[in-house]
Amino acid sequence: MTTIDPVKAGSAAGVGILELLQKHPDGLNAAEIRAAVGDAGDQEQLMRRLRHVRKYYHVPYEKVDGRWVYVFRGEKQNVKTDSGAISGKQRARILNLAKGRCQMCGRTVEGDGIKLQVDHRVPQTWGGLTVDENLWAICVQCNHGKRDFFASFDPDEMAELVKIESVHERIARFLRMHEGEWVDSHYIEDIANVRDRQEDWQKRLRELRYPVVGMDIETGRYKTPEGFIRSRYKLVKWVDLPPDHQQLIRAWDNKENS
Ligand SMILES: [Zn+2]
Repeated sequence: MTTIDPVKAGSAAGVGILELLQKHPDGLNAAEIRAAVGDAGDQEQLMRRLRHVRKYYHVPYEKVDGRWVYVFRGEKQNVKTDSGAISGKQRARILNLAKGRCQMCGRTVEGDGIKLQVDHRVPQTWGGLTVDENLWAICVQCNHGKRDFFASFDPDEMAELVKIESVHERIARFLRMHEGEWVDSHYIEDIANVRDRQEDWQKRLRELRYPVVGMDIETGRYKTPEGFIRSRYKLVKWVDLPPDHQQLIRAWDNKENS
């Protein structure tokens, strides 16, 4: 059993939470942690404590035996700190790749007089890293719109979401956070790609609608004020994803293609 360092755990309650989780390898949910650790605090305090201990310990929020729980996975090795600061060189590289075009709305510096800003695609508060793959150049207007949209999510919930391994589950749960509302494709793309840049996120969306899964997601197109056509998605009906949804999807694909 790992000895918990009180400094790394941040507080006596932090030590208590980690020791408790070590004794429960199948994980515990927030209510169970709070019931067992007297001074874990209210929901918000507990989240803050978990955020703190996660700098040094692996405590993912995962589905274990069909339950969403916090699991202790040991101490992190060589904790890398990501200050979030974008270096001058990195900024120049990202701007150069954008070729004067906003990567979100498509308007250009030359044609539309926009100003470009280098931005974290997946925000840092959600665990997005300051690496080229997570940076893009977008115009001031898009950046503001994006901030407003992201502000409507709970950062803790999002940080948990980006850790989910199944791309299907990530997309579905993200849409569920705005159930019944249109969500711009850019955000879904980011959530799909956050763990693996190779994901064909549009295919993943289609797969969620397979009869073997049964999610009801509507696709729409709209015209931005600048005249660009964008796609967006709306979750109409949520279903709990079967734990083996990825196998079910593969089996469905095989059947359809045979
Ligand atoms: Zn833009």
